[in-house]
Amino acid sequence: MTSQKLAGQQSSLTLPLSAEQSDWLKGTIRDVPDFPKKGIVFKDLTTMMKDPRAFSFVLNVLSEKCRSLKPTVIVGIEARGFILAPAIAHQLDVGFVPVRKPGKLPWHTEKVSYDLEYGQDTIEVHKDAVNKTDRVIIIDDLLATGGTALAAKQLMEKLEAQVIACGFLVELDFLAGRARVEGSDKTEVFSVVHF
Ligand code: AMP
Repeated sequence: MTSQKLAGQQSSLTLPLSAEQSDWLKGTIRDVPDFPKKGIVFKDLTTMMKDPRAFSFVLNVLSEKCRSLKPTVIVGIEARGFILAPAIAHQLDVGFVPVRKPGKLPWHTEKVSYDLEYGQDTIEVHKDAVNKTDRVIIIDDLLATGGTALAAKQLMEKLEAQVIACGFLVELDFLAGRARVEGSDKTEVFSVVHF
């Protein structure tokens, strides 16, 4: 089936995708071995995003899934979460909140440090970005070990917001990040494609 037909199927906007749709999207992602460190196979999503049908399709799938959960805010994690989250927030007509690397946000911040698949990092959010009335969906490009998304979830919880789900374009199932992000409160985790 052509990519046009796959992208155009009505059923295509719901998760999980059909095997054909998943294979089509996976074919638009480039594997880059040994980046940024030896032993890591980096999932380069720029090739998917440059394909207008694939990019529009994944944004529509993520947006429809988010819409069904009725969030008040879409949170994006720097850097590649910033490509997806604002587009989803725009489609749902809700606000976008950036979670950033240290030292980038100008106002008072809350922070959480965490371990990555390759290294260590800290993320920050403005203290007044969300509050206990918010139903938050956290969006990032890829779920690997789950450290980043879990830290973002903890950041939201520090501000007393309710994290209703975490969504990803790609999930690396073999790293089992899903269980970490779900946690004991069984937060919903969804991903468009799985490796
Ligand atoms: P983790 O905290 O281990 O779940 O890692 C997720 C974050 O690291 C995401 O923001 C990804 O952009 C990035 N990341 C981790 N592993 C990869 C990979 N193999 N390919 C592309 N990005 C990755």
